[in-house]
Amino acid sequence: MVTKCSKCGTDIPDNAGFCPACGTPKGAAPQQMQPMAQSPGAGLRGIADIVFSKFIIMLGVCICLLLVWIGALITSIAVAGWGITVNSIMGSIGFAGMGFLLLGGGMLNNKFDPIVRTGMLVAGGFLLARVI
Ligand SMILES: [Zn+2]
Repeated sequence: MVTKCSKCGTDIPDNAGFCPACGTPKGAAPQQMQPMAQSPGAGLRGIADIVFSKFIIMLGVCICLLLVWIGALITSIAVAGWGITVNSIMGSIGFAGMGFLLLGGGMLNNKFDPIVRTGMLVAGGFLLARVI
């Protein structure tokens, strides 16, 4: 039985591993089948890519930094004990949020460069470790 190339449709002989016309490996079968087979994972992957998209991470980190900054501001204004409590709560939320976003993006969003992902994991881990 002759196999058709999944990319260009050329007949590939049984003894050939590659398409003689375009060089696509025979094993790299129907490309339109792959999304179907992977669809549950692909759906989660898509959600992760949206939740941990560059825009959301940058926005989230800005909001978290704002929380930390406002917390510090409250402490400098209110010298009383509650100002320090508010600062530590807001600081914890801010650092935990940044750590969560960076760790999540580093682990789940494979659209980022591997070096960037490693940096995000290190930074996220550091921020979360600071909170704990
Ligand atoms: Zn081909």
